[in-house]
Amino acid sequence: MDKSWIEERDRFSSKYIAGVESFINFSRENGNTSDNKILCPCNNCRNTKKKSFIEVKRDLHLNGFYLYYRKWIFHGEPNVSHHSSFNRSTHTSVPSQNENPDFGDGGMALILTYLMNYLKC
Ligand SMILES: [Zn+2]
Repeated sequence: MDKSWIEERDRFSSKYIAGVESFINFSRENGNTSDNKILCPCNNCRNTKKKSFIEVKRDLHLNGFYLYYRKWIFHGEPNVSHHSSFNRSTHTSVPSQNENPDFGDGGMALILTYLMNYLKC
């Protein structure tokens, strides 16, 4: 998936607008959106706040996309680079009674792996 739009300086260019659209569509299809809210990856929230799609869109245009969030692991992108098959059913198995579904089963390990990989390069 092309993510070069994240670095686009003009946040209202057609490239950036299309990029935001593709991110919203991606998280709508792959992420955990049971309450119609997703973690906002804007430069201000940095995946710490849950917002509706409309709010996230607005944030991404106003604040920009968080530059270091390249692998969308909080929005359904698998965190295994060597794995080619895409498991679409993983997000449905997150139990709803889990108080923090985004850090559910193995979530913390995933984040650590993500950070380790990031620090290596
Ligand atoms: Zn935000």
